[in-house]
Amino acid sequence: MPTAALRARAEIDLGALRANVRALRARAGDAAVMAVVKSDAYGHGAVPCAREALAAGATWLGTATAEEALALRAAGLPGRILCWLWVPGGPWRQAIEAGIDVSLSGMWALREAVAAAREAGRPARVQLKADTGLGRNGCQPGEDWADLVAAALRAQAEGLVRITGLWSHFACADEPSHPSIAAQLARFREMTAYAEERGVRPEVRHIANSPATLTLPESRFDLVRTGIALYGVSPSPEVGTPADFGLRPVMTLSASLALVKRTPAGHGVSYGHHYVTSGDTTLGLVPVGYADGVPRHASGTGPVLVDGKWRTVAGRVAMDQFVVDLGGDEPPVGSEAVLFGPGDRGEPTAEDWAQACGTIAYEIVTRIGTRVPRVYV
Ligand code: PLP
Repeated sequence: MPTAALRARAEIDLGALRANVRALRARAGDAAVMAVVKSDAYGHGAVPCAREALAAGATWLGTATAEEALALRAAGLPGRILCWLWVPGGPWRQAIEAGIDVSLSGMWALREAVAAAREAGRPARVQLKADTGLGRNGCQPGEDWADLVAAALRAQAEGLVRITGLWSHFACADEPSHPSIAAQLARFREMTAYAEERGVRPEVRHIANSPATLTLPESRFDLVRTGIALYGVSPSPEVGTPADFGLRPVMTLSASLALVKRTPAGHGVSYGHHYVTSGDTTLGLVPVGYADGVPRHASGTGPVLVDGKWRTVAGRVAMDQFVVDLGGDEPPVGSEAVLFGPGDRGEPTAEDWAQACGTIAYEIVTRIGTRVPRVYV
């Protein structure tokens, strides 16, 4: 249980996470739900979140790195796991032995998966990733795709791989009216049809991330890969608020005021003196900083709820602390300063922080560092 002695805490509401999985399952219709738990479940804690997501009906887990996927297995998590960010020499064999599905974006990756499958003495479960227009990871359409599909089918015929999926990723699903969305869907249909006509029988075809799952029913295919929505955070203002989709924020970040002190007018605050008090006032010291993941860009802009009122980060965010001007109020030292949460108690949300820092809410929750204890409720 949380104690008042904690400098700072990220409270993780696992009940909210379960409810979000249920809401996403309802929205996904016949498609299965993958809980994307990469990057420590966007800062929420991969193992506890993965466990809850599976208990609430997600049937796949998704990670970027092989190490993340292997850590889930090592923690005893069952079921299907897809991991998609590989480099040459990666732990292919361990992944195959752990029953992890691996994504292949090109021939080099197929060669490594096949070699590891020979060593492991069992087929690699592989999912072929198509670049339908993101221009990032994924196999180019045309000749590259034809070569990859043909080579994967040959390896499958030799019992070295099982092609379990065909998949892709959107570039602009967080801007629901962006023309690239329809173009990517069309290309995905073409590329999957090409593979299926040549004999690929995927268990799952998938392209939808959270914004597509929430706004684009025709993108759901057999599986949706939901990350940010699982954590009750909006993919973008254009998509809507979490509440619009019955989602509830999972993380609340708070800290205990470490000092409350009266200061006179003209007092420079924090490095560089970018904030100078305009009259007699009270300063409160919030003991979290950029080493904890509070963006330095929040200097002068980040909102914090203290004693029922929104205050703003005064001056620069330092490595371990920042200051708020309490305008003459004198809450006791140790009072709670809430940086963000669901908003029920009037606190700012992760989306408010994103706006204040000129970034996306994904970055706000994901960067909260390991020095901040996660408290599961
Ligand atoms: N699929 C892939 C390949 C991703 O890289 C990500 C996250 O960036 C997701 C799915 C989940 O995206 P979101 O958090 O928008 O649901």
